[in-house]
Amino acid sequence: MTISDNSVASFHYTLTDSSGQVLDSSEGKEPLSYLHGAGNIIPGLEKHLAGKTVGDKLSVSVPPAEAYGERDERMVQELPASMFSGVDKIEAGMEFHAQTEQGTQIVKVSSVEGDTVTVDGNHPLAGMSLNFDVEITDVRDATQEEKDHGHVHGPGGHEH
Ligand code: ZN
Repeated sequence: MTISDNSVASFHYTLTDSSGQVLDSSEGKEPLSYLHGAGNIIPGLEKHLAGKTVGDKLSVSVPPAEAYGERDERMVQELPASMFSGVDKIEAGMEFHAQTEQGTQIVKVSSVEGDTVTVDGNHPLAGMSLNFDVEITDVRDATQEEKDHGHVHGPGGHEH
């Protein structure tokens, strides 16, 4: 069977950036499973998996707009260190949950200079073109419960 809406597909993948650096990979792990047509994975990859079947291999280049979006510099903010009271030492790379108008967001500290902390609420992969090397390992029909929930249950999916 081929991948279409309400298929559960599993695949191994290697994700590289435009310079060829590996950002993520399923190597040595379970394949990633997702419910096709439910927005579980980025749109630029999902559309290329439609119609594929077990054993198919593909290389897909996804522009930022179909991956994690363009970077938004308005999501970069300078904050006084006093806002981080309760944190022993603020360092670049730390992540915090922040309440914003869009709900809870993860912001990452990009730099600390004196009493000024620069935080970035962009997704780490925002603004990047992403290259996926994919091998399809399984395709099956989703169960009714999976369709109702909008995600995959069992290995590689939600356990609940
Ligand atoms: Zn569920």
